[in-house]
Amino acid sequence: MRGEVSVTQSNLPRQLFVVVERGNAGMRMRLAPADLGGERFAVVNGKIGIAAIEYIGHGNRSSLTEAYHVFRKLDLQGEDSTGRDRLLQVFSQWQEALARSGIAISVEREALYGSPLPRHAWAAGADGVSLRPWDIELTALQARLRRVVKLDQVPAQFVNALVERTEQRGFMVELVTAQRGDGSATLLVSPDSRTLAEAAALERQLLVHGSDQSVDGASAQLGELLGYPPCCIERFGHVAEHNDTTLAWALLPEPTTSASPLSQWLQPGLALLSHSPCALSCAASIALAQRLLDAVDGADPGGTARWRALATRVQVVDRDGNRLALALDESLDSPQRILAADLLSAKDSPAPLPQRTSDLVGQRVVLENSGLVAEDREWYAPYVADHRGQR
Ligand SMILES: [Zn+2]
Repeated sequence: MRGEVSVTQSNLPRQLFVVVERGNAGMRMRLAPADLGGERFAVVNGKIGIAAIEYIGHGNRSSLTEAYHVFRKLDLQGEDSTGRDRLLQVFSQWQEALARSGIAISVEREALYGSPLPRHAWAAGADGVSLRPWDIELTALQARLRRVVKLDQVPAQFVNALVERTEQRGFMVELVTAQRGDGSATLLVSPDSRTLAEAAALERQLLVHGSDQSVDGASAQLGELLGYPPCCIERFGHVAEHNDTTLAWALLPEPTTSASPLSQWLQPGLALLSHSPCALSCAASIALAQRLLDAVDGADPGGTARWRALATRVQVVDRDGNRLALALDESLDSPQRILAADLLSAKDSPAPLPQRTSDLVGQRVVLENSGLVAEDREWYAPYVADHRGQR
């Protein structure tokens, strides 16, 4: 029976966002339960993991690595990894030990904790709902909105067909293959051979050096060729790791204001943009997405309407990794009733709609530590992006 379980707020798994600083160098980090959901952390001690989110300031990042060593050596007692009190207690111990090394640390905010974001299945429609036109990248080239596009980590079975379709539309393709062993490849596409060669050289350089600070320049150059706004390239360059989970914790704001549906990227099946916007309110990203939508609309007006219906919602990824588009009454300032809940993709099971999704309709949800929590407190979503437009 609902409503009988009495769970206090602090019983939901949570994480602490902290800022570590030494001189001109700083980084935002997370302190989170390491025994839930299979996330990999830089260091784990006493079932608590730490991970960098974003670098701040312009100092030498390596001057902060001592923060990891200090955490590893802490003598952490206790079993609970999810409670707020334990996290704060671990934080205090770390703070005290860091002070002896001349490193300052402070709490930035608390957030609910959930599984890392699931990797998006590459093939549109293979896993849940995708209203992102499969050829939106090529449409962008055709409409001259971008000079080069990158189709990332294309699974081996799609590579040949994709190369063929791309060449049929009069573009040139360069295959950049990593030694991943799964045969997947990155395709760079452009109408112009010189731009393509330049982009391919940069991509190869980045493949070798990863996210090393020494290749920040190459990364920015490639971003520029790919048509990403300078403000977004700059912020992306400071994000510690370029996986979806880290990007979400670095770039998603506290969902107290409503953003345009055009800037969304949390749900890959609804994203028009190919980059992670520096902010959901980024004007350059919104303008680019609007031009893309106009280009797509010319070819498929019905598709655009379907996109808008789902995109103009509160987008969430729940604790288990299910992606949902929620229709809610009003602003998240107060508890809101769920009017509709559409499953965009289910974790590990493409088909049937879980019972939970229909159970959610009619329930009220409340914002708690930047996550959404259902009134029965059995369901919550740590990742939230309100894309219902200016309200
Ligand atoms: Zn931007």
